[in-house]
Amino acid sequence: MEIKKGIAASPGISIAKSLIIDSEDYRIPHRSIHPTQRMAEVQRVRNAFKDGIGELTALEKAQDPTEGSKIKDIFAVHLRYLHDRSMRKKVTDMVQSELVTAAYAVSTVLREIAAHFSKAKDTYISERAADIYDIERRLLKQLIGKKREDVGRLTEEVVVIARELSPTETAEFDRKFVKGIASDAGGRTSHAAIVARSLGIPAVVALEDLTACASGGDTVIVDGNRGIVIVNPDEQTIRQYEDYSKDFTELEHRLDAIRQEPAVTRDGTRITLLGNIEFPDEAETVLQKGGDGIGLYRTEFLYLNTETEPTEEDHYRAYARTVQFLAGRPIVIRTLDLGADKYTQSKRFVREPNPFLGLRSIRFCLQNLTMFKTQLRAILRASVLGDVKVMFPLITSLHELMQAKMILRDVMEDLDEESIPYNRDMQIGIMIETPSAALTACSLAADADFFSIGTNDLTQYTLAVDRGNELVSMLYSSANPAVLRLIRTVTQDAHKAQIELSVCGEMASEPEHVMLLLGMGVRTLSLSSPMIPEIKQVVRSVRMEDCNQVARKVLSMNSERQISAYLRNAATKILPEAF
Ligand code: PEP
Ligand code: MG
Repeated sequence: MEIKKGIAASPGISIAKSLIIDSEDYRIPHRSIHPTQRMAEVQRVRNAFKDGIGELTALEKAQDPTEGSKIKDIFAVHLRYLHDRSMRKKVTDMVQSELVTAAYAVSTVLREIAAHFSKAKDTYISERAADIYDIERRLLKQLIGKKREDVGRLTEEVVVIARELSPTETAEFDRKFVKGIASDAGGRTSHAAIVARSLGIPAVVALEDLTACASGGDTVIVDGNRGIVIVNPDEQTIRQYEDYSKDFTELEHRLDAIRQEPAVTRDGTRITLLGNIEFPDEAETVLQKGGDGIGLYRTEFLYLNTETEPTEEDHYRAYARTVQFLAGRPIVIRTLDLGADKYTQSKRFVREPNPFLGLRSIRFCLQNLTMFKTQLRAILRASVLGDVKVMFPLITSLHELMQAKMILRDVMEDLDEESIPYNRDMQIGIMIETPSAALTACSLAADADFFSIGTNDLTQYTLAVDRGNELVSMLYSSANPAVLRLIRTVTQDAHKAQIELSVCGEMASEPEHVMLLLGMGVRTLSLSSPMIPEIKQVVRSVRMEDCNQVARKVLSMNSERQISAYLRNAATKILPEAF
């Protein structure tokens, strides 16, 4: 049994067999087997060779003999190696004599052969090393896992283990079978983690070397509440976790009972709880979970899932569908926030030295006006269907906001000329997610109808900590006094300017931060839908007077640790089951 501590990225408990999908680069841990398993493991080696041969033969046959002759040759070479008895014998000998797993023996023997080849002076021979690595991957695929693309066609429940997951990969997981996610890389606010939360799949990230500790088919527990992953748990641990999981599910059912109740504090302050979504259908879940509308629609996911750029109609259809679900409730459509960890297909290979400081988000839109205008046209057209608001991400200056608004006005004029209806009074808001925006909030407020504080990026940029980098994840905290002071400034400036304000970063979905945010003057929270009932329960359990006191106390503290401990303690008293 191996216990790994990472970052709790999506709540819930899951227990299932692991599926390792980092098949591009397997790292196989040294694993001993019991002498009684020896023959079974040798048989697994033989089967892997046999299945590898079958797969390669089919691939070779499928090649067009005229066009693909080079590829055909490569497959033929690989087949020769797989038919070579001495290679297979070396692997089975190692399993028998050293009592190690088939995967470990395959990896060790083939890597030794590859290393031997690569040292050769003759380039023809040294280049064969790549073939051997390729064969190693093919055999390991048979032994421990499936290829990434197989994840979409699962037939049994699994915990997906990967070095790193992209937001799109995560979005494509089949919720019915992917019961948990665990990755070496990532942070709580990396987009793959956000998507896992939206899908309601328990996830732990930043486990650093989990892929080196787990093999495909191992039983794995993902504890998305505490950020723990246990590989090959013993019986007692499994039983404990089954009980814990039952308690947690019961809590969720209990919370479901209050989902249609309003989010009102005990002393009568009404709080608006909105949902964050990435796809139109999620709007329905937000309502089911008791949300009052959508506070953040991350529209860039329209781009991330397709090979081609979406048309105006694609945009319009997605927005119209979402607005329909909401039946008059408000929706904030955020314009494309591409770049950084969310690339368009065509941009994916354009490397930027510092993507999070690069051509992302509104900057990317302002340099790709045709694309930007296409989206704005669709948003404006959808604005007549319901209570639609538009929001620009990553604003860093008033100039940028003015530019974005100017483009929006241009698009409005185009629609006027074409006599296409739209809501002329559609509210225009901005995300406050950079220190520069927070510090100039009072001037931005004069030109924005509302603010939404994106604490994920605001924390990243204030503390200079990459939100998706596990190596610095211990430095990433929205409870840092610097971040809190910026939030305080923004809430004060929004109140002074009498414009609406919400918080839509992950901080809004963390029970321990609710009292603080309310105490700092926030009255609207936008969060991933599975967390709405829990946050509603916290809101319904507190008094504003206590929240104000918590905020006063926290804002006088200088240490993030002290603040986090204090907040956790305060929240545990209110909703102990959540911790
Ligand atoms: C944020 O930065 O807090 C935010 C809500 O936007 P995203 O997570 O999509 O960057
Ligand atoms: Mg952001």
